[in-house]
Amino acid sequence: MSDRPIVIKNPPEIETMREAGRVNALVLKTVREMVSPGITTQELDAVAEELIRKNGGKPAFKNYPGPYPYPATLTISINEELVHGIPGKRELKEGDLVSVDCGTVLDGFVADSAFSMGVGEISTQAQQLLEVTEKALYLGIDKMRPGNRVGDVSAAIQQFVEGYNFHVPREYTGHGVGRNMHEGPLVPNFGVSGRGIPLRPGITVALEPMVMVGTHRTRVLDDQWTVISADRSLTAHFEHSVAVTEDEPIILTAQ
Ligand code: MG
Ligand code: MG
Repeated sequence: MSDRPIVIKNPPEIETMREAGRVNALVLKTVREMVSPGITTQELDAVAEELIRKNGGKPAFKNYPGPYPYPATLTISINEELVHGIPGKRELKEGDLVSVDCGTVLDGFVADSAFSMGVGEISTQAQQLLEVTEKALYLGIDKMRPGNRVGDVSAAIQQFVEGYNFHVPREYTGHGVGRNMHEGPLVPNFGVSGRGIPLRPGITVALEPMVMVGTHRTRVLDDQWTVISADRSLTAHFEHSVAVTEDEPIILTAQ
């Protein structure tokens, strides 16, 4: 992924990405409201796909190339599952920490965003993990300005997360997004300030802090997609697609 080109978007293209992002945000909001004990992850997935298509879009993840084509619209990752969990017959239960990631293609552009939340009551640690991961995302977004480099975004996320003794994976990163779901630049959740490519207006990135309580190591389950924390500790994941502009960054996947 690292050598994929960076594609600068002009303002009309950014506006199209914003439209895709609005659909993606609507889907995630709808799914969030449905999350409750007893619902299956495939029920959430079906609603997401229908809503994307009703709004003139296509699911970006479905058939995405991998070990085998990705089979669903959402990825739904529960507890120790960090990312890329495949929806199925599993029911959510009270106390779970669930992460939902969605991609929409609309008018040729991709929007990619994710959130995590508790199902009913969750532990104090799970609550802190959610807050730290979401805050890390917004700290990273705030660094997405001309004059900064990718390393400034990465370092802001890593330092904040590790300040709570939580961990970021090394193998899975944020990424450029546009006509393709994965473009340059890679934006890791770890790095060194002042390093990496300079950010400039028209760069669009899916920024996505992934955070694990006990380790930075991951492994992939036998389904070949689901990524878990290697020690099976709790995980969380928040993501927005964001455009760098002359001034404030634009959150393309805001509602
Ligand atoms: Mg995503
Ligand atoms: Mg992404």
